[in-house]
Amino acid sequence: MAARILSGRPVVESLHARIQQVLARRAPHQGPPTLTVLLPNDPSAQAYARAIRKQFTTLRLDYCTVDIDDTLDESRFAILLKRLAEDESVTGILALQPLPKGVSRRSLARLMPPTKDVDGVSFEQQGRLAIGSPWIAPSTPLGGLILLQHYGIEVAGRHAVVIGRSPVVGRPLALLLLARDATVTICHRRTPDLAKLTRQADLLFVAAGQPHLVKPDMVAPGAVVIDFGVSVRDGRLIGDVDPAVAEVASALAPVPGGTGPVTTAVLALNLLRLAGLLEENDLFPGAP
Ligand code: ADP
Repeated sequence: MAARILSGRPVVESLHARIQQVLARRAPHQGPPTLTVLLPNDPSAQAYARAIRKQFTTLRLDYCTVDIDDTLDESRFAILLKRLAEDESVTGILALQPLPKGVSRRSLARLMPPTKDVDGVSFEQQGRLAIGSPWIAPSTPLGGLILLQHYGIEVAGRHAVVIGRSPVVGRPLALLLLARDATVTICHRRTPDLAKLTRQADLLFVAAGQPHLVKPDMVAPGAVVIDFGVSVRDGRLIGDVDPAVAEVASALAPVPGGTGPVTTAVLALNLLRLAGLLEENDLFPGAP
């Protein structure tokens, strides 16, 4: 069996069409929503920032960057976020990884103003997601679910296995799946027999950051596999799922080309939500 390849491209196109519709509806005096990206001196962050700029330019959304150097300590980081929180021209803020050494993920969660938190990293947005009442969800996992929805793949009532529990991908993904009525198993570095669990998955989500961790013998025939892994090897993007998995799975969202491009479009969608242009029940666009 050759898996159906779940490409991100048509999903991006339909999200862009929707974003453009929403932007066209806004009042004439309202300027475009603006995203401020806190940009570390790191090649993968800079590549992601370029991808954001490209999509935002296409969508005519405003975008600017603030360079973050690794010596920035927590008190200067707090001052920066306070200034951005008070700046009315800033709609959303995205802090790209890696954070400066002196700023922990926990400090970011505390300092990020929830009403400008475009990627759902603040305690408030994470807490809302944890109690099943999400408003903003991190764009990578939300993009994964929007991709499944685009291809008509049902989540409710199915067994979803998530590899990875980071606060930006695995953990919020598991919570989003739970909110969509999946039965969820979360695996991580200390899970003893990974393959035993992954073989039980109807839907397998992989966000471990380990190139080609998932091999064909770890996947049940007919399962749906979604790869979120982003590693760089010899200048090429490489996912967490061995491409040979396509011979076993019924559908595969590969790296590159699957969830990656959707992430950036969801970031734009989240920005519209922060700008008050989308309703709460629009978290899953197109959902009945
Ligand atoms: P990301 O930001 O992409 O989610 P992180 O490095 O923050 O990446 O998190 C990686 C996650 O993947 C962690 O939760 C870790 O426990 C999990 N993980 C890494 N390697 C393995 C592995 N070999 N088996 C199972 N889980 C793994």
